[in-house]
Amino acid sequence: MSTSSFSNLISAVAICRTPYKQKFGIPRQPGLVDTKGYIELVGEFNNIDCVRGIEQYSHLWLVFSFHENLAQGWKTTVRPPRLGGNEKLGVFATRATFRPNGLGQSVVKLHRVIQQDGKIRLEISGMDLVDKTPIIDIKPYIPFSDAISDAKGGMAQEKPELISVEFSEQALIQISQYEAKHEHVDQFKQLIEGVLSQDPRPAYKKAKVDPKLYQLALYDRDIFWRVIDNIIVVEQLVSSKV
Ligand code: SAM
Repeated sequence: MSTSSFSNLISAVAICRTPYKQKFGIPRQPGLVDTKGYIELVGEFNNIDCVRGIEQYSHLWLVFSFHENLAQGWKTTVRPPRLGGNEKLGVFATRATFRPNGLGQSVVKLHRVIQQDGKIRLEISGMDLVDKTPIIDIKPYIPFSDAISDAKGGMAQEKPELISVEFSEQALIQISQYEAKHEHVDQFKQLIEGVLSQDPRPAYKKAKVDPKLYQLALYDRDIFWRVIDNIIVVEQLVSSKV
C-alpha cells in the first residue's frame, strides 16, 4: 500500500453530541468550559467490547474530523486569534481548523459508559467540538506520557483571559424556564457564562467600541448578547429556527 494515500481506511467510529450547534462561540481548546456531551458509537463500533475497560481512565483523546471545514481546504499559513489576527504562522505551528486531512484532537473527561436501547454512549465533558462531529478514533489519555509538565506552549502558554458576563432580567427568567422544562440541561446559565467569558469575538472587534448584537446557538436556543464597557451582557434567548 502507498504511504501517501490510505484515506479509504478511515471512517467515523462515533458521533459527538454537544450543546454547540454552530462553530462560533465554541471554546478554542478542550477543558476551558465544563460542558457535558456524549460520544455515540456507530455501526460495527457500537459494540460494548470496543470500550471494555475504558472506565479505568479519567480522560480520553478524541481524534476527529473538522467536518464543517473540509470543503474549504487548507492554507499553508494562518493568522491565530491569539496573536490578534495580525501575525502569520505555518499551519503545522497552530491548531487551526483548516488543515491538510482536516483532523483535530482533543482531550476530554470521561464520566461513564451508558448502555441503553442497544446504543453505547460515553458521557464526557470539556469538549471543543460542534454537535455531530465525526469521531475517527478514541484513545485513553496516559498521564505519565501525555502530560509534560515543563513543555513550552509557544503563543498559547496560558489559558486565554476571561471577560465578565452579566445577564438581563429577561435572560435570567428565560434560562430558569428552560432548565425547568429540559431535565437533561442543568447549569445552562453556567454554560452560557463559560462560553461567553472566553469572548468569542474575532480579535479585530475587541480593540474598539463594538455595538454589534451577537448571536450564538446552544442546544436549541439562540443567545443574543453584546459588549458594553468591556462586559458581555446577555440580552435574551430565542428558540432556534433549525
Ligand atoms: N482541540 C482541537 C485541536 O487542537 O485539534 C480543536 C481546536 S480548534 C481551534 C477548536 C475550534 O474548532 C472550535 O472553537 C470550533 O470553532 C471548531 N470546530 C469544532 N468542531 C468542528 C468541526 N466538526 N468542524 C469544523 N470546525 C470545528
